[in-house]
Amino acid sequence: MRSQSHKVLVIPGPVEVRPEILDAQAQWMIGHRSTAFSELFARLQEKLRAVFLTENRVFISGSSGTGLWEGASRNCIRDGRKVLHLAGGAFSARWADVSRLNGKTVDVIEVPWGQAHTPEMVEEALRREHYDAVCVVHNETSTGVINPIQAISEVVHRYDDTLLLVDTVSSFLGAELRVDDWGIDMALTSSQKAFALPPGMALATCSPRILDRAKEVTHRGYYFDFLELEAAAAKNNTPSTPPISLMFAADAQLDAIAAEGLENRWMRHLMMRDLTMQWTDAAGMSMFAPDGYRSPTVSAIRNTRGFDVDAMAKFMGGKGYSMDKGYGQIKGKTFRIAHMGDMEIGTLEAVFEGLDEFLETQ
Ligand SMILES: *Cc1c(COP(=O)(O)O)cnc(C)c1O
Repeated sequence: MRSQSHKVLVIPGPVEVRPEILDAQAQWMIGHRSTAFSELFARLQEKLRAVFLTENRVFISGSSGTGLWEGASRNCIRDGRKVLHLAGGAFSARWADVSRLNGKTVDVIEVPWGQAHTPEMVEEALRREHYDAVCVVHNETSTGVINPIQAISEVVHRYDDTLLLVDTVSSFLGAELRVDDWGIDMALTSSQKAFALPPGMALATCSPRILDRAKEVTHRGYYFDFLELEAAAAKNNTPSTPPISLMFAADAQLDAIAAEGLENRWMRHLMMRDLTMQWTDAAGMSMFAPDGYRSPTVSAIRNTRGFDVDAMAKFMGGKGYSMDKGYGQIKGKTFRIAHMGDMEIGTLEAVFEGLDEFLETQ
């Protein structure tokens, strides 16, 4: 049934999904008000808590991660209060836009693309002004920068009334993430990045502080009203029809992740990041992100050799790989190699071989 002409996805989302997981989606459909569904939901709660490392609720949403950005912005910021966004790339800047478009008053700590945010920057902003929430992207997929969430969280927690909302879309299940130990009120993510599922499902951990806050917000919207999501989840259910096939896939994938071991999975990603750094160096190019802030799941590489990224993608396409050509304002000046999800080291090495062959033609 699946086409033979598939190219292996080396792009940072959606990522390659293993055939076993594609098949897990193909089970008979069940009604979402059935016992079978509430059992599936309850099972997923436990398995998801184990990988987010939290005791908190994990919401399951039939949307991409962007939907939960909107939910977080709407439920966590009261009328007349402000939100602080940390922006340094395409995704973090877009989340700030989402808050603005939902009528919130937004301040932004902006760093140049490719730089990380420091706890000192956050401290300075929080000392000056009260914010209902700090919104930060753990792993900025456009630049390959990973932010020091634990250190930022320590600062945010000095301010009682300020929630810490973290986009973990491209870090969850690829980079170290400890929701409770690090004091993250909400970690939101999508299915199609390092979770290595098809797109269409989003997840978010939700601390009791978030629910308390949501009660003080009048216009929480409808689809992403956290109080409604919580009321349904308490009964192992969802307010509207959930992405049941993706939940079947998640159930199988979480078993595979448990078998690999969460920390082993983080280690495999770090190894792939380090191999990518070595290859980049050997190829005479350099990483876009500074040392110490390089993402375990995606590398943005400076195209210092000035090759044509379209030609590279075409060449690699011929070898059966779908490649990225850079994102937004750094497209072409950089390109990205995603090394996330269930990618094996051998696959990444084959990608390097292909790229070496391409570079020899330059
Ligand atoms: C992909 C991505 C998003 C957008 O997620 P969708 O699931 O496509 O809505 C948001 N933030 C980061 C960091 C991402 O990598």
